[in-house]
Amino acid sequence: MKIGFIGLGNMGAAIAGNILRAGHQLTVWNRSPAPVAELVGRGAVAAKAPKDALQGDLLFSMLANDAALREVGLAGPLLDQAAPGLVHVNLATVSVELAREMTEIHAARGVGYVAAPVFGRPDAAAAAKLIVIAAGRGKDVARVRPILEAIGQRVAVAGEAPEQANLFKIAGNFMLAAAIETMGEAVALVRKGGIDPALFIQVLTTSLFAGPAYQGYGALIVAEKYEPAGFKLKLGKKDAGLALAAGDQLQVPLPLASLVHDHSIEAMASGLGEKDRAALAGLAAAKAGLPGA
Ligand code: NAP
Repeated sequence: MKIGFIGLGNMGAAIAGNILRAGHQLTVWNRSPAPVAELVGRGAVAAKAPKDALQGDLLFSMLANDAALREVGLAGPLLDQAAPGLVHVNLATVSVELAREMTEIHAARGVGYVAAPVFGRPDAAAAAKLIVIAAGRGKDVARVRPILEAIGQRVAVAGEAPEQANLFKIAGNFMLAAAIETMGEAVALVRKGGIDPALFIQVLTTSLFAGPAYQGYGALIVAEKYEPAGFKLKLGKKDAGLALAAGDQLQVPLPLASLVHDHSIEAMASGLGEKDRAALAGLAAAKAGLPGA
């Protein structure tokens, strides 16, 4: 298929690489040039402008947040230049509100729209092991499904309304953030009591808390390895904010999300925004009088 890709950050570059590997013709655009050159070296075509990425069968985008999608024009004007029959797959973690708005904007212009946010960090993206949560009209999801299967280990369909995939993802990310916060506080506690944090995490994440979220973030917390960031803390703050906004709208109190959001702001104010979101544990350590992040 002829596919466009906009947004080649930590996640987008890895996903675009797998679309290329699956044998599709890929046109890529990114705000900064370095990741474009890397993919062109592997057979992609560099778009001169974002609109060039909208001339094929499908467009994938993996931009940072709501503001980036608006700035690039994918929440409006750019869609006027889309090839007939284009389906846009938005892989980013965006707000439920923007998802709703984008559904209307795409429908008004006759462009298909599928929200397909993903679980998994850049290493999972590179290994095509993402968990993809898709939502959109049945015929649009069916059309893009083979590509989603090429970039992930599982595709789950959350519903027919794109915003449902975003709400699913926001709720899952809230669980991840809470896990990091809990582990950070617990590790500070055992460190302060003279217990080996590596042993603590190893025992718990191979028994009661076995699973990739606890194991992956547990290892980063024990190693205090917050750079390079696979998932930037500032994006984690964005996601906690998205959970709070969704909770507000649906009248679901999320006190733990408020706490993670506040701690993320505190961490950003201490200069940790570009570090991995596991650096929340560094903040918990610092609050306990231990060396922090
Ligand atoms: P990232 O490395 O920071 O990349 C962000 C991308 O957005 C880059 O291509 C960046 O362009 C672009 N961008 C940001 N602001 C822009 C603007 N105003 N105009 C144009 N382009 C702009 O982030 P990421 O880790 O790939 O995350 C991307 C999305 O995936 C986010 O919604 C994130 O929440 C979600 N996500 C991330 C992970 C993870 O583990 N990293 C996992 C699941 C989902 P430049 O290269 O020019 O900066």
